[in-house]
Amino acid sequence: MTHRLIRARLRRVLSFALALCMAVMLAVQATGPALADEKQEQLEANRDQAKAELEAAQQQQQENQETITLTEEQRAEVMEQQEQLEGEIAGIQQKIEALNEQIAAKDQAITEKQAEVDAKQAEFDAQIEAFKERLLAVQRLNASGGIELLSNVSNMFQLLTYQRVMDSIAAQDQQICTELDTQKAQLETEKAQLQTEKQELEAQEAQQQANQDELTATATELAGVKQQLDNTLTQAEAMEEALAAAVSEKQAAFNKACDEVDAYLRQLISDAQGSFSEAPISCSLNFICPLDSYKYISCQYGAGGHKGVDFAAPGNTPIRAVASGQVITVQNHYSYGNYVMVYHGTDDNGTTYATLYAHMIRWPSVSVGQAVSQGDILGYVGSTGNSTGNHLHLELRVNGARTNPLNYVPH
Ligand SMILES: [Zn+2]
Repeated sequence: MTHRLIRARLRRVLSFALALCMAVMLAVQATGPALADEKQEQLEANRDQAKAELEAAQQQQQENQETITLTEEQRAEVMEQQEQLEGEIAGIQQKIEALNEQIAAKDQAITEKQAEVDAKQAEFDAQIEAFKERLLAVQRLNASGGIELLSNVSNMFQLLTYQRVMDSIAAQDQQICTELDTQKAQLETEKAQLQTEKQELEAQEAQQQANQDELTATATELAGVKQQLDNTLTQAEAMEEALAAAVSEKQAAFNKACDEVDAYLRQLISDAQGSFSEAPISCSLNFICPLDSYKYISCQYGAGGHKGVDFAAPGNTPIRAVASGQVITVQNHYSYGNYVMVYHGTDDNGTTYATLYAHMIRWPSVSVGQAVSQGDILGYVGSTGNSTGNHLHLELRVNGARTNPLNYVPH
């Protein structure tokens, strides 16, 4: 048999199988590929939601860890300041104690000086008293025969001598009194000097006391800041475990959602295999480029989370199946626009391959269940769906998971 004949027979068998399928599909049209894709969309939305929740949980965990690190740093800084401050306060305390000793010594000196002043005053008073007594004696002398004594003065010489003696006594008393007075004034001056010095020391002490009060107030403030930091740290550390648990939980949910998408895609392909083919399709992996020519690759796989490769090409450029297979999806999708998905079967290792062609200019030329050969036209380049210009968005799914098509497709 020639290849052409085999192919023709295969076509007949397939179209019979297809007719059967179509009958079934008509009966369950609402639950056909359209619903299947809604389910895929739902699963992918679940997965994206789980991913967003995981990222939010990770973000929270990271922020909490940053809080801990930052708080610990600040706490260490505050404690260093506290230590320094304690040293300064202790230094000032020593100065105050030294000043207090000096003030006490000064007080002692003042007391002693006052005693000296008092003694001098007493001496002065005694001197005055003695002088007064002498004056009284002279007066008594005058009153009771002093005149007589005077009248007994026989000559001028005697009179003058008497006068001189009297004057001399007065002058001596006066001198002594003046000296005592001067000495006392000197002592008073010294005492005043001591008091001035004491006041100076007291002023210094007051200054040191003010410094100490200020530092103590700062220390109190720092203690408050440290308390707050301690609280923040305690809270953050308490949250750490819960946040880690949340991250694990979200990670598990995300993994599960990913697995569900993968499982669904595998199911989709295996269902297609079961529904549309009598025998498993064998995939040669000798893929061709889906476009005879294109301008350039406008977006690579993986760029900004891009799950396919974009070939920029003029509108209406034919899009060809990269390998033989069966059409498993023909859809109009808000993002893919008009698109076709082709299942290519399994390679020798049992790995499955499927390709997706998006943004076709109009409803695709093929229909679900149709067998296609490598190079068959599936549709034409356009810009339907989420697209800003004419291009083919090509995806490759290996065992249901999206992979870089350029690893297999020549370009
Ligand atoms: Zn794209």
